[in-house]
Amino acid sequence: MWTARVFTLYPEIFPGPLNKGLYGRALGKKTWNLEVVNIRDSAEDKHKTVDDTPFGGGSGMLLKPDILGKSIDSNIKKGEKIFYLSPRGKKFDQKLAKELSKEKTINLICGHFEGVDERILETRNIEEISIGDYILSGGETASIVLIDSILRLLPNVIGNEISKNDESFENGLLEYPQYTKPQIWEKKSVPEVLLSGDHAKIKDWRLSQSKDITRRRRPDLWNEHLKKEKK
Ligand code: SAH
Repeated sequence: MWTARVFTLYPEIFPGPLNKGLYGRALGKKTWNLEVVNIRDSAEDKHKTVDDTPFGGGSGMLLKPDILGKSIDSNIKKGEKIFYLSPRGKKFDQKLAKELSKEKTINLICGHFEGVDERILETRNIEEISIGDYILSGGETASIVLIDSILRLLPNVIGNEISKNDESFENGLLEYPQYTKPQIWEKKSVPEVLLSGDHAKIKDWRLSQSKDITRRRRPDLWNEHLKKEKK
């Protein structure tokens, strides 16, 4: 069973949106598993202190390595990968989501305040992952983004393999436009080809739309696509 173990100061945030619809049902059926560890449970003084000021000065507080270390060591199992959600990390994408979906358990450390003491990252061999070039107040929402995108890829969670393969990014292209009923809405009709019943033609149209949209909106993805086509 694929497991996400989340280390956080705000356990009440979870499962949050991960408990809705298909994900909630799959969680109930133990198709996947969520373990939430409250970092504060490892605090040792009577105030349950988890953070302190940075050496060298500067604003904000850092999660203490001794407390975080204790929390990690008493909860992870040998060989499991540990990730710290961080704006400095490797940029999260569909490829990384796929890789992480193949792990048995992933450990996600949610930072808060100014972040964590650097030594915890070195001593516990923690990899940093960013969900984008902006700063969040904590790693919890980032963890939820990661887990959400991974759950879609697990067998028996969403079910429809075909629809997954058609999504944006799966083939390096963005998705083509989609339409549903009514066929005419506010005087706008859906593209004729989609009503033709000619599956080969529909496939061609969709691919050309995908290419068009990707070329116009995401030159970076488009260049990657052209490189792959040349190979
Ligand atoms: N001082 C840090 C930012 C701290 S933000 C810096 O400049 O790098 C507080 C916490 O939010 C971080 O510890 C991290 O866990 C989380 N976080 C913020 N932005 C993030 C992002 N883009 N991706 C993933 N996690 C992020």
